[in-house]
Amino acid sequence: MNNDIRISLGLTDLNLTFDPNTEQHFSETNHNGTDTATWKLLLTYATTCDKCDNPMVNNGTKTVIHKGPRNAFKFQNFRIRKQKFLCKKCGHTSIT
Ligand SMILES: [Zn+2]
Repeated sequence: MNNDIRISLGLTDLNLTFDPNTEQHFSETNHNGTDTATWKLLLTYATTCDKCDNPMVNNGTKTVIHKGPRNAFKFQNFRIRKQKFLCKKCGHTSIT
């Protein structure tokens, strides 16, 4: 994702990327005459355990929807898959 796209979407979190599991970066729906673009994003980064400082492994994702800024033409939502993490050493879990 380049910086122009980030700025136009109001995305400042550099750990956000377009979701590689989806073919299209966004989908558009029309609800009661209002267009909504839903951007499909993935939030992930490498992390270490809060408890024992070992590297954590990926442990699935949780999907959330955030309302984004409205531009002149439509509403924008961000569908974000948040990475979940598991520490194999102590069993501690966390999420982005
Ligand atoms: Zn741990």
